[in-house]
Amino acid sequence: MKTFIFLMCLLSCITSFGANIPRVYLCRKCDISVIKEKRPNTLYCSAKGSHNWIDLGIVGENIYHCRKCRKIVYTAKRPNVIYCSSRGSHTWDLLGQVGKNQYQCRKCSIKISVRNRPSTIYCPAGGSHNWNKF
Ligand SMILES: [Zn+2]
Ligand SMILES: [Zn+2]
Ligand SMILES: [Zn+2]
Repeated sequence: MKTFIFLMCLLSCITSFGANIPRVYLCRKCDISVIKEKRPNTLYCSAKGSHNWIDLGIVGENIYHCRKCRKIVYTAKRPNVIYCSSRGSHTWDLLGQVGKNQYQCRKCSIKISVRNRPSTIYCPAGGSHNWNKF
């Protein structure tokens, strides 16, 4: 019985430790993203009813851009591809790592702060990104 209680404690410790790592959540209805340690509450989605959160992954310093819905997220690994608001699943391109250099694409006009020059891979406005440094 003691062992059982010990195991239960251990399990709850592991679960609560896991819950302390912030993750990126995206609502598939209103398309907003939030950073939370646990699944955010579902109250008052602007698209009516309650939010329907999708866990995109652990927050990190990699900047990913979806070439379809043009959303930008900061995660440790390639984000979950489930449910893109544009259609089907997200197609994430890695643009770079978070840093102090600010760039804007002259074509699709997204703005990011990166450590090195961002990747030019696939601009949703056509061809490759054309970065302008501030
Ligand atoms: Zn929502
Ligand atoms: Zn997308
Ligand atoms: Zn672009």
